[in-house]
Amino acid sequence: MPTRTCLVVALSDSVALMRNGEVSYWWQALGGFPPRRPSLPGSLDVDVCVVGGGYTGLWTAYYLAGLRPELRIVVLEAAFAGYGASGRNGGWVTAELPGSRARYARAAGGADGVRALESALRATVAEIGRVCAAESIDCDFVKGGRLSVATTPSQLARLREGLAGLREWGDGDDVYQFLSRDETRERVNVAGALGGLYAPASARVQPAALAAGIATAAERRGVEIFEATPVSLIEANSSGTGPSGTGPSGTGPSGTGPSGTGASGAVARTGFGDVHARAVLRCTEGYTAGLPGARRALLPMNSHMVVTEPLDAAAWREIGWEGCETLSDEAHAYMYAQRTADGRIALGGRGDPYRFGSATDHLGQTDPGTVAALGAVLRRLFPAAADTSIAHAWCGVLGVPRDWCATVTYHQASGIGWAGGYTGHGVAAANLAGRTLADLVAGEKSELTTLPWVGHRSRSWEPEPARWAGVHSLYALYRLADRLETGEAGARPARVRAGEALGRVGDLISGIPH
Ligand SMILES: Cc1cc2nc3c(=O)[nH]c(=O)nc-3n(C[C@H](O)[C@H](O)[C@H](O)COP(=O)(O)OP(=O)(O)OC[C@H]3O[C@@H](n4cnc5c(N)ncnc54)[C@H](O)[C@@H]3O)c2cc1C
Repeated sequence: MPTRTCLVVALSDSVALMRNGEVSYWWQALGGFPPRRPSLPGSLDVDVCVVGGGYTGLWTAYYLAGLRPELRIVVLEAAFAGYGASGRNGGWVTAELPGSRARYARAAGGADGVRALESALRATVAEIGRVCAAESIDCDFVKGGRLSVATTPSQLARLREGLAGLREWGDGDDVYQFLSRDETRERVNVAGALGGLYAPASARVQPAALAAGIATAAERRGVEIFEATPVSLIEANSSGTGPSGTGPSGTGPSGTGPSGTGASGAVARTGFGDVHARAVLRCTEGYTAGLPGARRALLPMNSHMVVTEPLDAAAWREIGWEGCETLSDEAHAYMYAQRTADGRIALGGRGDPYRFGSATDHLGQTDPGTVAALGAVLRRLFPAAADTSIAHAWCGVLGVPRDWCATVTYHQASGIGWAGGYTGHGVAAANLAGRTLADLVAGEKSELTTLPWVGHRSRSWEPEPARWAGVHSLYALYRLADRLETGEAGARPARVRAGEALGRVGDLISGIPH
């Protein structure tokens, strides 16, 4: 794996040496890629096999090892723990629902079930903070809340409309607060901010440090992580008898093993050997399309990020942002940002949204056009940072289900389970999903195992080229809607209204929840 890729790029009126890819700034800020763990040494019989070493897989293994210390749990990771979105994201630990309330409300729990899921997500932000403290995970966790700013009248109208919906749903000021223009700018001085929505239940983290910390914490609980071990296939055991009768730790069918009795188990196949287990859990989110049988389950949506060099004290005095709120705007193709612990601005957005055939990036390298577009957003929102160079750019994939609703699923009979599809809100959601998957595998009935995303099914994505054409058309439409709304295309009220209408059409076509 190459360790360094440098590109010379023009940034405003300066030329800077920018790093591109290398998985993410977050990993490079920790000193580069982590020391590699061994690959799978050969075929194994274990109790639980987790495929994918991101937040979902690592949290699942961590909590399951806490619940059932007697189980032998292995994690098989294609690259290294935290290589995927978990080591590349914007570091928003947000309680945002990964999906549509209306769609989740169709589950048995109805609207109350959705409220329970949202309340569990809010509690998850604190749970992650608790584990970080308990396990000495130093990941710059700050619970500063989430601030969404409106920078055009259309965005402000959308924000107010959204807030009215939240109030109807029962969310009070303790969950979402409207902020006036001055109140918004007092928190973060975003140029052109007209108002904001503040949600206290959100935290900021250094994503790779969190991923590395969970991996180590899971290992302390006895979980074995094998890296550079791509799984080529997950399937139910054809024998129907399970791997070894009682399982390697002797706990299989005794009632204390995964899912109690009756699971015939499954197998994860790799080039190093096969791992037979009572439970095999697919935790591969944006990479799921690489596995046979799941090629159209989750669309690998690209998200791209840039991070600046550290801002000077004068720039920070101008911008404020002392609460370290996670920050976004209300554009259709929205941006998300954080103030990093080392005094930089990390900002992300959609860029090129999707690669044909569900392909994924190479080590997070992103294209110059996207870097320039994100740089322009940064300079527009933060003029005080306009002369600060971009230090690093990268991208990654997150998993989007066809109905934009995440799932946590476990089939006791086959022993196969999966979780993901958090549509860009996976940092907190993966913790909740991991705890839920752990309960399901352990056969624990808990308040988590009845949440409406448990067992949720989404239909498959369309085959190519419809999939590529659909996603690209949608984001072209969103970008045009944003341009019309901001007036860059020569705004007149009619054009602004056209932009708003286009945005709504986009939401209707895509099914993106609001
Ligand atoms: C740039 C970016 C910014 C984001 N920002 C935010 C944010 O600020 N807040 C938020 O809530 N969410 C954000 N997200 C989404 C969030 O990061 C993800 O939803 C979350 O990290 C998913 O975790 P995961 O463990 O399910 O998947 P991943 O972290 O992607 O982990 C999957 C792992 O599986 C491994 N794998 C894949 N295939 C195989 C295989 N066949 N065999 C073995 N291993 C395999 C991969 O190498 C990878 O390590 C962002 C995502 C991206 C890409």
